[in-house]
Amino acid sequence: MRLLSYIFSSLLWLFLAVALLNSNGVAANSNSIDGIRVWPAPENTRIVFDLKNKPDYKYFTLSNPNRLVIDFKDTKNSTALKVLAKNDPRIKLFRTSTAKSKSSTRLVLELTKSFQLTVFPLAPAGQYGDRLVVDLHDKNEKIQTVKHTTPNGKRDIIIAIVAGHGGYDPGSIGAKGSYEKRVTLAISKKLATLINQRSGFKAVMIRKGDYYVKHSRKTELARKNKADLLISIHADAFVSPEPQGASVLVQSSRRANSEFTRWIANRQDESELLGGAGEMIKKTKDKNLAFTLADMKKEHTMSSSYEFALHVIKQMKKVTKLHKKKPEGLSLAVLKSSDIPSVLIETGFISNPTEEKNLNNKKHQQKLANAIYKAVDNYFVENTPKGTLLAAITMKQHKVRSGESLSVLAQRYKISVATIKSVNKLKSNVLRIGQTLKIPRAG
Ligand SMILES: [Zn+2]
Repeated sequence: MRLLSYIFSSLLWLFLAVALLNSNGVAANSNSIDGIRVWPAPENTRIVFDLKNKPDYKYFTLSNPNRLVIDFKDTKNSTALKVLAKNDPRIKLFRTSTAKSKSSTRLVLELTKSFQLTVFPLAPAGQYGDRLVVDLHDKNEKIQTVKHTTPNGKRDIIIAIVAGHGGYDPGSIGAKGSYEKRVTLAISKKLATLINQRSGFKAVMIRKGDYYVKHSRKTELARKNKADLLISIHADAFVSPEPQGASVLVQSSRRANSEFTRWIANRQDESELLGGAGEMIKKTKDKNLAFTLADMKKEHTMSSSYEFALHVIKQMKKVTKLHKKKPEGLSLAVLKSSDIPSVLIETGFISNPTEEKNLNNKKHQQKLANAIYKAVDNYFVENTPKGTLLAAITMKQHKVRSGESLSVLAQRYKISVATIKSVNKLKSNVLRIGQTLKIPRAG
């Protein structure tokens, strides 16, 4: 009985569908544009069309005036177009035009000039359904770099700060609805301010507003700015509300095995930004030498990253709970080599109600920024790059003479034995005559 009625109702639907087709003479719209999101960034604008189903589309450009025309087959548009271009520097107007068939939609984007164009569909993921993405890139985009040398010819130490996510990518979303991309930008801005206040340091914000920066572009920007360190700021999330605390992630050569790390590593987004290969390695023709250089470089970058991560943890634990007490290693399988020491800081769990509240709190954001800044400062006092202003203002050289011990020098320069040891990476208290020590200026 049940089967019979099922067959009957199926037949009825089939009949109705055929009748509908016949009466219109064309197929009814099987798809619809349910939303259009526009994300202007300094070098590009991304337009995301949210669709009911997978888009069937064609596009072409026209000049005088510059236009992009997109035909969506068997699609109706249910989005208001008028206000879309309001705040965008590249699009003058969104409008429709006569489509090839009644059931289709032709969208016309009137552009301010001609752009490099990328158009691609995206399959449903997370909270989003089928999408069509259009990127309008500025042609021959120039990278703006920060001023690298100070008046006396010594260079600044450059810290690249990547505020996680942005634009159409909100990152994790807290139970109360806060977006990770906003929290990361707020903390990053505070951190940049602190760094820029310190003479001898300059911060480069890889993302300055609510827009998305491609992963390859992040490293490119960091490298063009000659960054000494790259810090990515994120907030964590988990399926259950319990996990809490901050953690610091670094590139690791060992295959990481904890569940948590695997989960992070799977997020291609975060891992790619640690990638990139050194210029020298690209240039050499000797394959073996290239491998050796690459290995040495990678090894050095990884150990520097790890050392900095330890500083971050030391400071972070004073202002927040820790999720992991040690830096977490990201598996190499998903990482490219990097020539800039890089860490990824998960500032807390946005999926934990208490931490979500904290992460939105300006005072707490400031505390986190202070902690990271302190770590930056401490790390570079111990590992001062040559030729920098910091090296000139904070370090003196001392050549060890006969009869001098660590405690004698500590007393003379009014600093602690521990500081001399850590700055010079000394493992024992024994000094050699003639050995040159770096002495930080007291105060
Ligand atoms: Zn994130």
